[in-house]
Amino acid sequence: RFAAALAGPLESVSSGDIMRRPLVAGNWKMNGTVTSVDALVTGLVSADSPSCELLVCPPSVFLAQVRAGLSVAGHEEEIGLGAQDVSQHESGAFTGENSADMLVEFGCRYVLIGHSERRQYHGESDEAVAAKVERCLAVGLRPIVCIGETLEQRRNGSMLAIIAQQLGALAQTVAREDWGRFDIAYEPVWAIGTGESASPEQAQEVHAMVRSTITDHGDSEDCTRILYGGSVNDDNAKALFEMADIDGALVGGASLNVQSFISIAESAG
Ligand code: PEP
Repeated sequence: RFAAALAGPLESVSSGDIMRRPLVAGNWKMNGTVTSVDALVTGLVSADSPSCELLVCPPSVFLAQVRAGLSVAGHEEEIGLGAQDVSQHESGAFTGENSADMLVEFGCRYVLIGHSERRQYHGESDEAVAAKVERCLAVGLRPIVCIGETLEQRRNGSMLAIIAQQLGALAQTVAREDWGRFDIAYEPVWAIGTGESASPEQAQEVHAMVRSTITDHGDSEDCTRILYGGSVNDDNAKALFEMADIDGALVGGASLNVQSFISIAESAG
């Protein structure tokens, strides 16, 4: 009876549908209660649908609740569901982790991988990130791979080398034909949760470099979106989205407020 109530997996995202359609994703991080999550989902399904793709990534304990809320309102196609992390292993003795198969079964189409908070507090390496990406691709879950430099790295001039290294680990693992089956979020660590967004020009410099790396490694560059993340809000979103290589946003704090999140999504066009 539980399985019937959850309604099972949804069709996975096909690369052919992407063609750099803007994506605005909300990372709710470790926030929320059953009541506040209900209120957030109710607000999102009541808002007018923006023309960009919308995605919410709640804590894993709330995935089933959000899925149910979206499906009761008939919005599970319009508002995607994603997780904030995934195990690189298929199954077994990995206490506390969720497998890619489990996330698919709970209706996730996306998963964030390598968020800077996972790298910083859980020691996640570029190689672990790449292994997680591979696991997701094996089951049709679309990763959003987070990359970005610290303030120190930006100041000491190693920013582009760090980004290249983070992408290099993916290039070692992911087959050429699979570039296009994941998206990338450029999130400068110094901009996350600080209220200090990168300027559109600062973000564009890195996005252009990421775009050319995608073109070098894969066959289908139009199928990979490059999102910007780091203190995006309804005031700064529009100018960021005007940049040639910014295809959407990964939004933390502002995604917990329906009006701000929807207004960011509206400026993504
Ligand atoms: C994030 O958590 O990915 C993020 C970008 O957070 P914020 O928007 O709060 O900076």
